[in-house]
Amino acid sequence: MDCLFCKMVDREIEPDIVYEDEQVLAFNDIDPKAPTHILIVPKKHIATLNDIEEVDLALIGRLQFTAAKLAKQLGFADNGYRVVMNCNEDGGQSVYHIHMHLMGGRHFTWPAG
Ligand code: 5GP
Repeated sequence: MDCLFCKMVDREIEPDIVYEDEQVLAFNDIDPKAPTHILIVPKKHIATLNDIEEVDLALIGRLQFTAAKLAKQLGFADNGYRVVMNCNEDGGQSVYHIHMHLMGGRHFTWPAG
């Protein structure tokens, strides 16, 4: 399967890893939009948020749990941070393997662009 994030999970491409467990890989975004910008990726290939199935619910929770854990470790949990998951073209998705953006270290405005 020609999937960038699967290649990172399989180490065909070596990302700048910040966290890994048996189900999740987290690495620095190549084009950061904040002082900290980490992508948290399930090792299982799921193309879009629309493709999540009931069997994946704990895995999706693990993405959010990992984001909060990293935010605490990196020291911006109390100040605040943003997590984003983009879906399909209008949502701004460019890599079709679901991922949570964890961004911290600056103030974010709302609504998002
Ligand atoms: P999306 O637009 O799908 O929500 O987010 C995809 C993210 O993947 C973007 O923030 C983009 O900068 C990041 N990205 C794209 N290619 C690479 C890469 O080769 N390495 C890393 N670390 N991040 C990438």
